Amino acid sequence: MTAPAEGAGGTPGDSGPTDADWAAAVAAVRGLSADARVLMICHVNPDGDALGSMLGFGLGLRRLGVRQLQATFPGPPELPESFGWLPGLDLLVPERAAYSDPDLVICFDAASESRLGDLVDRLAVAGTTLVLDHHASNTRFGRIDLVDPHAAATSVLAEGLLARLGVPLDAEIAACLYVALSTDTGSFRFDATTPAVHELAARLLATGIRPGDISRRIFDTRPFGAVRLFGEVLGRARLDPAAAGGRGLVWTVATLDDLARYDQPPHVLESLIDSIRVTAEAEVSCVVKQVAAEEWSVSLRSKGAVDVSRAAVVLGGGGHRFAAGFTGRGSADEVMDRVRAALDGALLPA
Ligand code: 5GP
Ligand code: MN
Repeated sequence: MTAPAEGAGGTPGDSGPTDADWAAAVAAVRGLSADARVLMICHVNPDGDALGSMLGFGLGLRRLGVRQLQATFPGPPELPESFGWLPGLDLLVPERAAYSDPDLVICFDAASESRLGDLVDRLAVAGTTLVLDHHASNTRFGRIDLVDPHAAATSVLAEGLLARLGVPLDAEIAACLYVALSTDTGSFRFDATTPAVHELAARLLATGIRPGDISRRIFDTRPFGAVRLFGEVLGRARLDPAAAGGRGLVWTVATLDDLARYDQPPHVLESLIDSIRVTAEAEVSCVVKQVAAEEWSVSLRSKGAVDVSRAAVVLGGGGHRFAAGFTGRGSADEVMDRVRAALDGALLPA
């Protein structure tokens, strides 16, 4: 799965795992003793790729006979209801219950250790560490790194390793990996949707999973309160035509008070960016979501002329060229001033 995403630059060092990397990863799993403890970790605020690749891979490890196996992520152990049906959820434990001395730690979809919160401790004590990821900004923090910036999703690497371990795809594993793949390709709409992505999707669908059911549960279901909340937050969206070097920026802000008024949890706002990034007059879209009095989780999306990960890195975050984020402090207006300044420095050559 190394076909480059359209427009992805071929800079040295971004060519994906070598045969030696794959062999080391296979050996790390095959070499586990019968009583080995394996801890899987994905990034804070897990999305479909983080969770789907972790649980799908975990189910595969279970099929291989790994008995002491946990999956976890930093922060509150709650998940969006849209993920409540995923196979393998019984692998999940709250971070405080995660093995304190795992033999193997496997990280999913995390570009750096900072995305693992306090669970980063487990990497230091683990017998070995394995990183599966597809962020260009990945810091290669594992002992073994399976990192491919051209992969559409971390699940592409998870499936690649399962195949090399001889684990056949079944419907449960496939459901998890399909959620991951469809999440990170925007339901197979983004340029990262290569022929190889569709070939993987075909192998997953061949297990009998139902894409219509999965897509409805993951993308097209939300509480009525969230529908009305979106209406209000979208109603206050602003268009800055001069921003992003004159290519236009559309943005909105959602506060904790908004969430409270509609009795909604913060995660319902994660798909808000998808409703705002459709704006024809804006190259870049931005949603500023309040986390605490002076703390905001900021999502950025670009249609192609701006590298929003460059802007996000300047502001202390990271991500991909066309989807990135960071945590901003101060007032929402101050955060937006910083976003506008950073975007002007993130224009890609025409
Ligand atoms: P989202 O807007 O969906 O939360 O995040 C989009 C992408 O930006 C994610 O795939 C993730 O890679 C990245 N991202 C979001 N927030 C942060 C952050 O605070 N730090 C870093 N390093 N990356 C982030
Ligand atoms: Mn991902």
